[in-house]
Amino acid sequence: MLNALKKFIELGTHKSLSDDVNRRIRVVNMFSAVGMALTFILGFRALFAQDIQLTFILLTASILFAIAYKMQATIGAKRGSFISAMVIIACLMSLMLILVVTGGNAGTGPLWIFTVPPVTMFFTGFRRGILALTGFISLVVIVLFAPDNALLTTEYSFEFKTRLLYSFITVSFLSAFYEYSRQRSYNTAMYLSEQFERQARYDPLTTLLNRRGGQQQLEQELSRMQRNNKPFSIALADIDRFKSINDTFGHDAGDEVLKQVSDAFSRRLRVQDSLSRWGGEEFLFIFPETSEQDAKNVTEQIRENLSARSIPINDKHHQVTSSFGVCEITPSITLTTALNLADQALYQAKNNGRNKVCTASELKPKAHD
Ligand code: GH3
Ligand code: MG
Ligand code: MG
Repeated sequence: MLNALKKFIELGTHKSLSDDVNRRIRVVNMFSAVGMALTFILGFRALFAQDIQLTFILLTASILFAIAYKMQATIGAKRGSFISAMVIIACLMSLMLILVVTGGNAGTGPLWIFTVPPVTMFFTGFRRGILALTGFISLVVIVLFAPDNALLTTEYSFEFKTRLLYSFITVSFLSAFYEYSRQRSYNTAMYLSEQFERQARYDPLTTLLNRRGGQQQLEQELSRMQRNNKPFSIALADIDRFKSINDTFGHDAGDEVLKQVSDAFSRRLRVQDSLSRWGGEEFLFIFPETSEQDAKNVTEQIRENLSARSIPINDKHHQVTSSFGVCEITPSITLTTALNLADQALYQAKNNGRNKVCTASELKPKAHD
């Protein structure tokens, strides 16, 4: 029973949709269910009371609620839920107008109109909600105050009409205010979560991706390779004798050098490549759909560009160099192995005298010795 209810309410929701869209779908489902059940029960009551007109209206509304429920699952989540929401609101408003005109059961029909403001606001949002409610209030005013009660088939006292209108406008304002605050808090929450997400992926000093961001990029590249079967390459870079820069000029100067180096690295990147700060003075390049040889050529250019650049430290210009280890990633090796190989190649470049690029395949002869 509980499972069936859950299935009923979850119809049309999907993991790939945003929380807000899924929530809206659930509410549309719940509302169409409640609307369907209520109008159905009241419709039967009206039938037993032999009020054929009311029976017809309520049962038609019940069918329309059922259609709205089905529609969102058949049309496709986002558009479907919007269209069903519109059908529900149009259906609800028409039903309410009819209840105002006829008085419903023993003149209690107009009491139901208070469901209109919260539902309209929630389903359509603040701006559209204001428009729709203004339209609805205008129609209610016309129906209630037409000369000689021409549009009413029942009778209300003047006091009842005015109080109904005032209280309806008050509830409309409260619902609009509530929806406005809800949208604002939702937007703020989204903005903050984007900020946190950004902070969690980027390094504040160099503004490059941090290790976590680099790791995500690597995983993305890995799944792309699994789809298109084209190998890609990575390069690990480590600034040469960086400790002595810190020791000689201080930590702040060291930080400035890190910024300058990351600037020099990023300038030489091709659009498809990515760069992250992998550790203290280590960087990771990702070269999508690039063989080891091509990655080596690009890395050579990056290396030359850095060593040709003069970096100002405490008003004096210095040369800063970096060593690089390149490795190609094919479907047959794991990321961990590839990173390990790139690290060994980097170590080799350091051993070869620094300011060098070394590749993983150049290591292989040694590995077979
Ligand atoms: P090698 O050529 O062998 O790489 O020598 P190195 O001096 O660069 O190597 P080592 O790993 O000994 O030194 C790295 C230094 O980088 C040590 C650490 O204090 C410094 N470092 C790491 N992160 C930062 C940072 O964010 N800012 C600054 N200023 N220094 C950092
Ligand atoms: Mg290091
Ligand atoms: Mg170093």
